[in-house]
Amino acid sequence: MQRERTDVLVIGGGTAGFGAAVAAARQGLRVTLIEATTKIGGVMAFCPGMPWGGGYPQDRIIGGLIEELTQRLAAMDPPAAEKRPCTLENFGPEIVYDHDLATLTMFEMLEEAGVRVRLGTIALTPELAGDRIASVACCDRTGPVSVEAGIVIDCSGDGDISAKAGVPCALGDASGNMMAVTIAFHMVGVDWQAAFAHPDPYFTAHARRGVAEGRLHPDLARLYLMRGFHDGTVFCNSVHVRGVDGTDPAAVAAATQEGRRRCHQLAQFLRSDVPGFAGAHMAMLSPTVGVRETRKLEGVYRLTGADLARATKFPDGVVACDNPVDDVMRAEGDMTHDAALAPGAFYTIPFRSLLPARIGNLMFAGRILSADPVAFASVRGMPQCMAMGQATGTAAALALRGGLRVQDVPTGDLVASLVAQGLNRLAPAEAAA
Ligand SMILES: Cc1cc2nc3c(=O)[nH]c(=O)nc-3n(C[C@H](O)[C@H](O)[C@H](O)COP(=O)(O)OP(=O)(O)OC[C@H]3O[C@@H](n4cnc5c(N)ncnc54)[C@H](O)[C@@H]3O)c2cc1C
Repeated sequence: MQRERTDVLVIGGGTAGFGAAVAAARQGLRVTLIEATTKIGGVMAFCPGMPWGGGYPQDRIIGGLIEELTQRLAAMDPPAAEKRPCTLENFGPEIVYDHDLATLTMFEMLEEAGVRVRLGTIALTPELAGDRIASVACCDRTGPVSVEAGIVIDCSGDGDISAKAGVPCALGDASGNMMAVTIAFHMVGVDWQAAFAHPDPYFTAHARRGVAEGRLHPDLARLYLMRGFHDGTVFCNSVHVRGVDGTDPAAVAAATQEGRRRCHQLAQFLRSDVPGFAGAHMAMLSPTVGVRETRKLEGVYRLTGADLARATKFPDGVVACDNPVDDVMRAEGDMTHDAALAPGAFYTIPFRSLLPARIGNLMFAGRILSADPVAFASVRGMPQCMAMGQATGTAAALALRGGLRVQDVPTGDLVASLVAQGLNRLAPAEAAA
């Protein structure tokens, strides 16, 4: 058994884990980031080319690490990221980027911050000492590894470690009904002018015909196709597989294979039936489905749909959001993205939604925050996940330096520190007003 000791153990290298690890390491802490796969990004890596949405509440960048990352990419020659309007109603602008350069840059930011990144390593079991996680039993291909940590930040999306540590949780909407998983791909070599000559982002007329003729799966009655970052590429975020429990590896593998088949079928249909696609081919097929929703942990505070509707600014708000309620094909029903709040309004995500009630050295960030299904459908954009991670990484330093339980971190100091890092400039002013 290998044994390691770190100040902060971040579990999961998705956008939330990236934010948590960089932020904590920049505070001078020793940070270990454990990622089960071989890549950073989580869902962003599983669905390459997916735009960063939700970064511009009130059309102002939320700031912090997502802004820094975007600026680094945009400053490259040629630029590797840009802000674009979203083609769907109720969404603000989004950031499109070169996937490989974004991944490279995220690894560089982790390196520069001094994070110890352990890829191909799975966190398996928390070892509890009273109301603390003393260590987490992990394993990589060489065998078991025990990591002792001052603070554990669960950014795993699924919350296995938090759940095993006894944090109450529910799957999906509490009846176990979860949003569909999705497998994405690009079409390369598309004539954009011909393909996007009409304003319908869902290509509905073509899609309905394909379904009616039995050439497309019935869940493809609306195709969401958007211009990719590079000229002539089209990002296809349309193949949704319903009723998959994202915490069950066998179910995820089966959904991925089923999704591959539907993607191939869709690519053939685009080539044969949709103007602009005749000379194009499929590329960048997701290595696995992207999982939107699994466990919802119970935090000190549970963010609700009512909070969104009231445009609540919490005193411990760590990031602003105005995303619609972006719900995707649960067992029944379609994709919807109804406005969560009045035009021009926004709400904030409270730090308390990232804290369990009992365990004094555990936080969670990203899509496993404590939220009801309506709030969850709005908060889950990658910029918000990264910002939640940044907040927990920053809070880790306040807790460790003060010898405090994470629940006792002075939230005024936390919010001030985040503002000093360029995050959340909009929210504290509004909260105080
Ligand atoms: C298909 C799809 C389309 C989406 N579209 C958009 C969009 O257009 N724009 C947008 O902004 N957001 C979008 N979202 C939402 C957004 O991508 C996710 O909410 C966000 O990426 C979640 O980030 P996360 O870091 O919380 O979790 P994840 O991205 O799920 O990352 C969790 C990471 O933890 C790792 N992990 C899990 N368990 C363990 C363990 N035990 N040990 C070690 N590592 C572990 C995983 O391998 C993974 O890398 C979409 C989501 C999906 C699924």
